[in-house]
Amino acid sequence: MKDCTIIGGGPAGLNATLVLGRARRDVVLVDNNDPRNKVTFASHGFVTRDGVSPSEFRQLANQEFNRYPSITTLQDKVVEIIRKAEGFTIKTELGQEWATRKIILATGVKERFPNIPNLRNFYGRSIFNCPYCDGWELRDQPLALFGVVDYTFHTAEILRNWSQDLVIFTNGEELTKNQEEQIKKSNLRVETSPIRLLTGQDGILQKVELENGLVIERVGGFITPELEQATDLGTLLGVKLNETGGHHSDEVGNTKITGLFVAGEASNVYPSQLIIAAASGVETAMAVNVELTHEGVLGSEK
Ligand SMILES: Cc1cc2nc3c(=O)[nH]c(=O)nc-3n(C[C@H](O)[C@H](O)[C@H](O)COP(=O)(O)OP(=O)(O)OC[C@H]3O[C@@H](n4cnc5c(N)ncnc54)[C@H](O)[C@@H]3O)c2cc1C
Repeated sequence: MKDCTIIGGGPAGLNATLVLGRARRDVVLVDNNDPRNKVTFASHGFVTRDGVSPSEFRQLANQEFNRYPSITTLQDKVVEIIRKAEGFTIKTELGQEWATRKIILATGVKERFPNIPNLRNFYGRSIFNCPYCDGWELRDQPLALFGVVDYTFHTAEILRNWSQDLVIFTNGEELTKNQEEQIKKSNLRVETSPIRLLTGQDGILQKVELENGLVIERVGGFITPELEQATDLGTLLGVKLNETGGHHSDEVGNTKITGLFVAGEASNVYPSQLIIAAASGVETAMAVNVELTHEGVLGSEK
């Protein structure tokens, strides 16, 4: 019987694992190494780790785990969680199975993009989702902003701080009256024609070609993808989703299912930042440790 199984090895799951390992808890971290930020070369804004690649971030964490003998890590995918009288049984894709008192679900979110030809070739290289993460690298450049969800206009306002040369591409979507008014007020350039093609080289955007014949030179930009939970492991156990799309829980990630906790973007989808996900992992790990302590479970002798 493991004290806790942490599912998902992004910043939330990694930091939860570190804190529980240091609290002498017998924990297993299981991750299938498929985070949504794997498309990018460098992550920014995490103090002391500004510019680190997502894979290096994980490597550094795993080196730190070597100091704590009660931590086990597995590269595998959890496919089923079964509730038991005491705790849960975990089953994985590679056929492994074990019992655990607690679970931290730190499985993150996945992204859904509008239908823009070639977008995936540029996403994470010159087209990003968050100005705070990648705005500095694109400062003072001709930029594109794709999409017309209301959030796009908020992003456009914020983006002006990094670049004044900004075009919003709605990709054929008509604007509502409200959105038209927003544009007038903020003096933004908007192109509503559907996008025929994005062109460029080695992931660096050069041109946005529109169905109406216009070709607009851009070197990069931003998009606001729709986000949804990466797994249904939580909802299958009966946890509802909240209005942001995260799993319902209290402020430290405790769900209504006894022993099941959530952290990172499995808990709060926004704001989407490594350091916020990592901090959530710490808080949740402390809550798990307190619960185990109240239940009289002693730390590992390892
Ligand atoms: C292109 C891009 C660039 C970004 N740049 C930055 C940046 O510069 N700075 C910044 O602060 N933030 C950045 N972010 C946001 C940041 O990546 C997220 O906020 C953060 O990774 C969320 O952490 P998490 O631990 O909640 O989830 P994730 O990092 O998404 O980790 C979830 C993990 O769970 C695993 N998993 C899912 N299901 C299972 C399962 N069933 N079994 C086992 N494992 C499973 C996944 O493989 C994944 O490894 C960026 C995001 C993207 C997409």
